Amino acid sequence: MSAIEYEHIKTCKQTGARIGRLHTPHGTIDTPVFMPVGTLATVKSMTPEELAEIGSQIILSNTYHLWLRPGSDIIREAGGLHQFMNWDKPILTDSGGFQVFSLSERRKIEETGVHFRSHLDGSKLFLSPEGAMDIQHHLGSDIMMSFDECPPHPAEHGYVKDSIERTSRWAERGQNHHLKSGHDRKQALFGIVQGGEYTDLRAQSAKELAAMDFDGYSIGGLSVGEPKSIMYRVLEETMTYLPEHKPRYLMGVGSPDALIEGVIRGVDMFDCVLPTRIARNGTTMTSKGRVVVRNKKFERDFTPLDDSCDCYTCRNYTKAYLRHLFKTDEILGLRLTTYHNLYFLVKLMEDVRTAILNDNLMDFKEAFFESYGLNVENPKNF
Ligand SMILES: [Zn+2]
Repeated sequence: MSAIEYEHIKTCKQTGARIGRLHTPHGTIDTPVFMPVGTLATVKSMTPEELAEIGSQIILSNTYHLWLRPGSDIIREAGGLHQFMNWDKPILTDSGGFQVFSLSERRKIEETGVHFRSHLDGSKLFLSPEGAMDIQHHLGSDIMMSFDECPPHPAEHGYVKDSIERTSRWAERGQNHHLKSGHDRKQALFGIVQGGEYTDLRAQSAKELAAMDFDGYSIGGLSVGEPKSIMYRVLEETMTYLPEHKPRYLMGVGSPDALIEGVIRGVDMFDCVLPTRIARNGTTMTSKGRVVVRNKKFERDFTPLDDSCDCYTCRNYTKAYLRHLFKTDEILGLRLTTYHNLYFLVKLMEDVRTAILNDNLMDFKEAFFESYGLNVENPKNF
């Protein structure tokens, strides 16, 4: 008995995209869904009440970062991550694999796990597939990720083949550990498909993991610097091997065009630091494309960031005021732009779900891309 259940609602006749409901121990999520990232048990600058107000249905938090600070034992003592951070809706945690391979120095991969040094103080650490399960059990997330290696980009075919085969063995070990722990009744576990740009290896990885019957499947190692055309081709190939009655999650993707393209290819879940990270630098996503509020041209612009947005920021503040807050390093500035960017993506996914319901997602995509200033054939900017 899985801790979560995917309920299919409808497939769009125009595109093949799907809407559904994901039932989790902390509530039901309408999919496809965008998940804001709360790396250190906080979506930077946002209170949980504000996240709920925007319509965030689920957030993501990072296993590696919470393991280091404050320590997963402290979060367990606090009653788990939901209680620790005062968020009572679903939480998804990653496996720590991505950070181990992207942040840490002097790592050494062995069959048992990975030896590496902390990116904070250089101390020696070791993470295994079983260890990644234990940490996520302490955190108490609704959806956990298997420990995986995210191969560097670019990487040789031979290296990536060895890597995905090890990731499959690690996934199986983590799953065994998870099932034995009894936590599987309250926490779901996803397998992560890797394979770089190689469609044969993506197929192998997806088939091996699908055979293990995970609660859902993640597609990792995309949006790591490859052209978007390659990302979409690899995604399409991978999706054909993933079971339809389970949720599918495209990791680390959150630009508006890639969200829509991912949904068209059958993805149900996305996360990305993009909307919150760029917001803190004063860059916003609007229905007319990207707006950088620091720009001089907004000095006397007393109109909202986005005329067609009804978020708290757009209902109450002008571009001139936002520009002033950023120019004077006032913390309210980045709170207001973060609020808007997250609202924008949550609303975009709501519109996408409505378009699927109405069988016109392709029409929606073309209208959105045109308004956003994106070329449908060759979307260069976000
Ligand atoms: Zn807004």
